[in-house]
Order: sequence, then structure tokens, then C-alpha cells
Amino acid sequence: MTTEVLDACISPKIAIARAAELLRAGEVVGFPTETVYGLGACVFNEGAVRKIYTAKGRPQDNPLIVHIAETHDVSRVARDIPDEFYRLAESFFPGALTIILRRHSDVPAIVSAGLDTIAVRMPAHDIALGIITATGEPLVAPSANRSGKPSPTSAQHVLDDLNGKIAAVVDGGKCSVGIESTIVNILGETPMIVRPGVITQEEIERVLGKNVAIYSGQETTQPIAPGMKYRHYAPQATVKLMASWSEILEEVHKNPNPKRMILSNEKAPPELQSQVYLLSPTTIYSDFRLADAENFREILILCSDTVQNNVALMNRISKAASGT
Ligand code: AMP
Ligand code: MG
Repeated sequence: MTTEVLDACISPKIAIARAAELLRAGEVVGFPTETVYGLGACVFNEGAVRKIYTAKGRPQDNPLIVHIAETHDVSRVARDIPDEFYRLAESFFPGALTIILRRHSDVPAIVSAGLDTIAVRMPAHDIALGIITATGEPLVAPSANRSGKPSPTSAQHVLDDLNGKIAAVVDGGKCSVGIESTIVNILGETPMIVRPGVITQEEIERVLGKNVAIYSGQETTQPIAPGMKYRHYAPQATVKLMASWSEILEEVHKNPNPKRMILSNEKAPPELQSQVYLLSPTTIYSDFRLADAENFREILILCSDTVQNNVALMNRISKAASGT
């Protein structure tokens, strides 16, 4: 299969119309959102949804997120929708918040990997919203990477992983957020964040007017977010979390290894400046991809106070470090 590249920076209308045509015909298409690139398929087309699992090499028990363009479309994919959903939607839609609801019986079970729940979000991206609207139905769209690789934040990342395996990718430039959405389950007595993202626990608590828990990530026999049981992406390089520049300098002197990436959001001492890349949620996945492509042996990440206070960024960094 040849993967069409549809340039939405030059001609958004043509790209959106072609993407919608392919999606309606049961194909899968990569497209930009503000968080990361998604791999879209029509939610009610079981065969198309199956193609997503195949193209990504995704385990069958890892559920997908449904993307809508209008809040009222939630009733096409979910049932018994609690009032909390509408309060969160009013504050955060469109945006980087995914909400877990009860699955509508019209939605094929494969979408939720057999669960009776469904994850729903409205992306804050004109191209993504245009494609959903033009297709005329909600789209499932997991991150458009091969399973086990970092989420893609550019059309080139999607091609690097899926060229020849998907019908098309819409190029809408780089993602502005760069990490996946916050996921909150509002079905229990206490709402629970099952994946941290740029929308924080405090922001959700303020809107709901009650305490919100954060899932600790501890393995249980009944994982709350099934995807969590899979070993997350980890770069080939050894990832080390560092507390200070002096610790980094010590490491560098101990082992003067030229194939090293240092990530920091603080100004580096002069002798390290050439090895330092800016640490931010927007660039973390492209830096991990670069480290793999360049065969870096070691990635040192300076966990400054601001980095440690960024729950979503720390979550992704810790996962990358725990695999090595
Ligand atoms: P992504 O590849 O970024 O789209 O991630 C999808 C992730 O959303 C999955 O790995 C799960 O952790 C989570 N998710 C999707 N649907 C559900 C659901 N019904 N219940 C709990 N978590 C879900
Ligand atoms: Mg993913």
C-alpha cells in the first residue's frame, strides 16, 4: 500500500475532504491533533477499527479513544452520561482531556477492547475537527505510532513508523502540546485520573468541586486503564534521572561518552552546552526518537523543581527511565 501524504498546511480543504473520503471507505488515516498525531478510523466500522490494531501492532486488549467534534455527539458512543461529563466538556472541550463513560451498545466492543466503558475526547485542532465533521461520525484515534514507540508529534514521525501500512497521513505541522491527553474516569464515587496530561488534577477538581484521585500506576489484578499494563516506550539508550548539574558533570567525567543526550529546561554549564537539548513536553518524544535514530547510548535528564512539579512530563520521563 502506498501511503498518501495530504498537505493540510498548503491546502487544508482538499486534505480534509480526501481524508474523510478514505475514512468513509473504511481506511485508516493519520492526522494531527494538538496532543499527538492520531490514527483515525470510523468508530462504527469494526473492520476499519481492526486495521488500526494491525497497523500499530497494538495488543487487542488495549482500548482506543473516540474523538468527537460536537459535545452532543457523545450520545452516539456513550450511555447514562453523568452531569459531570457536561461540566468538564464545557470547561475543557475542545482540549487535551479524555473522559471515560459507559459504552453505547452501537459501538463495537473491539473499540474498548471488550470493556463496557468508552473513552471520549474533542481535540482542539482545526484539521482534526474538520476531518471528524467531514466524515460525519466519531473517529477512534489512538496515537499514530507503532506500538512500543514514542507517540508521533509530526507527520514524518507517523511515516517513519507506518509508511506503507496506512492509506494516508494528513500533514498539519508539529503538535503544540506534544504529549497525550489527561484521561479521567468519572464513573466512580471519586473521579480518577488514569493518565496525567497538561490538564491538571487541580483544574479538574476546581470544575467538579470535589476531590479527584490520581491512579498510582501500581499493578493490580484489575488494571483501571488496560493500556497501562504494557511496558511503555523506552529509548534504546539508558535513561538516567539527575538531580543537579554537579551530578551530571560527575557522570560525564566518569564516563566521557560522546553519544550522549542531556535534557534540561535550565541553562547548562558552558562545558556541557553542546550536548544539551531543551526539555519540554512539546519536544520530549521527538528528542527520544532522535536519540534512537542517532544511536545515543545515554540520556541524562535534569529533574529541576519545575520539571518535578510537572506531573505529566515526569510521568513520561519516569516511564522512559523505568524500561532501561
Ligand atoms: P492512546 O494510544 O494515546 O490513544 O492511548 C489510549 C489509552 O487510553 C489506552 O492505552 C488506555 O490507557 C486509555 N483508555 C482508552 N479507553 C479506555 C477505557 N475505556 N477505560 C480505561 N482506559 C482507557
Ligand atoms: Mg498511544
